[in-house]
Amino acid sequence: MRSPDVSGSEHSDVVIVGAGSAGCVLAEKLSRDGARSVLLLEQGPSFPDVGIRDLRRLPVGADSRYVTTIPERSGQVVVRGRGLGGSSAINGGYFLRWHDTDFAGWPAGWDRGTVESAYRELDDPDGTMSVRPAADAELGAAASAFESFWSARVPVRDVAHRWPIVGLNRVLGNHLGGLRMTAAEAYLRPAAGRPNLRVVTGARVGELLVRGRTVTGVRTVGGADISGGEVILCAGTLGTAELLLRSPQGALRVGQTVRVGEHREIQVGYGRRGVEELKPLLQTVVHTDDGVEIRCYSDDFDRYISGGAGGRPVIGIAGMTRAGRGEVTLGVVGPGVVAPGGVIPAARGGLRLSLAPLDPADAAAMWSRADDVADMLASTEFGDLVVPGSIVIDPVIRTSQHAWGSMPMGETTDGLGAVDGVRGLRIVDGSILPTPGRSGPHATTMMMACRIGDDLAAGDHA
Ligand SMILES: Cc1cc2nc3c(=O)[nH]c(=O)nc-3n(C[C@H](O)[C@H](O)[C@H](O)COP(=O)(O)OP(=O)(O)OC[C@H]3O[C@@H](n4cnc5c(N)ncnc54)[C@H](O)[C@@H]3O)c2cc1C
Repeated sequence: MRSPDVSGSEHSDVVIVGAGSAGCVLAEKLSRDGARSVLLLEQGPSFPDVGIRDLRRLPVGADSRYVTTIPERSGQVVVRGRGLGGSSAINGGYFLRWHDTDFAGWPAGWDRGTVESAYRELDDPDGTMSVRPAADAELGAAASAFESFWSARVPVRDVAHRWPIVGLNRVLGNHLGGLRMTAAEAYLRPAAGRPNLRVVTGARVGELLVRGRTVTGVRTVGGADISGGEVILCAGTLGTAELLLRSPQGALRVGQTVRVGEHREIQVGYGRRGVEELKPLLQTVVHTDDGVEIRCYSDDFDRYISGGAGGRPVIGIAGMTRAGRGEVTLGVVGPGVVAPGGVIPAARGGLRLSLAPLDPADAAAMWSRADDVADMLASTEFGDLVVPGSIVIDPVIRTSQHAWGSMPMGETTDGLGAVDGVRGLRIVDGSILPTPGRSGPHATTMMMACRIGDDLAAGDHA
């Protein structure tokens, strides 16, 4: 994979910004036609090494060069993957489809057959992302106790089936030989060497170039202007929002803030007896009929992130269709200038995420599930694992690192991600997910990119 500097006089038929879960898929599919020149710009480093892809690590600590950190109003930070593979290179390796009912609000063209075939490219037994469930013998002690508890109480999905159910779902993981199968390994690596695909790492795009209502290219933070027949933003929900906010906003019809959805999470912690060899972070979950995902994390997060001693694992209770809301803004640096239209910031600073308080009914449903989880941890199934008297429901409501839906298909983008009222601009990443989904977003973001990439490659768009 070549990574020369990008120069100011370049033109490509397609300029893709961001080599994450979606961007790698688009780059591979659009460069199959040797007559189409594709430039993929990624702000982070090249392919992550095997130490980063090791499933026993969550490489998101303060010293990681593979993540970008973004402040959240509560004082926490959220992280996003950077470098070839983006968040797919550093995430939990959970690769579950959404439920088929989650597609009800999607625009025309996303029928069950289309969605199924795009998912199958990724998660068939011989699919691109090397997806499979853990075998019974591979389950950790917490996952075994969790499945033993819930299998007596809720329906259980056959582990060979790909569509999740309301009930107990053994997680499908995207990994091979203990390493995350990243979007870059699955899609970019095989395309390396195509003369019409140029991948430039360490190239951060600062804004879009806009003439009238047409996006004509991008400008890097280094000041290089690159023109493109079409610009496709795959910078992730927060990265894409930042680019829209930094670009001429009137033309793009974006205001001073961009709204996002987020899966908020309550955690119930417990003291754990004994230490076991680390397993993949998330091997099994329950999806409830009221839109909550109960996540059985295999061990203490600290063991995955910093290699700490562990001993304090958590169970997560995430509001999935009971989604949280938030917005992203650019911080303001320096005093504003008063103008007839209001105050114009003197300079725009870094990206900020602000999560809104949860809807009270959603919060109540999640706290009630947290009580159920505390009861589960006190049950006989967890008797060998949980230190008596150690179960604590954390009062802080956290995030799942899943922001999505700032430019939803069917509202501000069409069913293939083209931005309404703007020529030459398409968005294909978590930003365009139009509904929250009962499972995590990774498999569905890639599924979306597969289908859109195939349609664009075939020229099926006007
Ligand atoms: C720590 C963590 C754990 C997660 N675990 C799971 C999980 O187990 N299962 C699940 O379903 N989901 C999980 N997710 C969410 C899932 O990984 C993401 O939703 C998905 O990868 C998003 O894909 P994307 O293509 O939208 O963006 P990303 O994969 O984040 O890609 C965006 C890319 O754009 C680049 N970029 C951004 N701005 C610029 C710019 N200005 N110029 C150039 N390049 C730019 C970034 O560096 C990055 O490489 C997790 C997320 C995180 C952060």
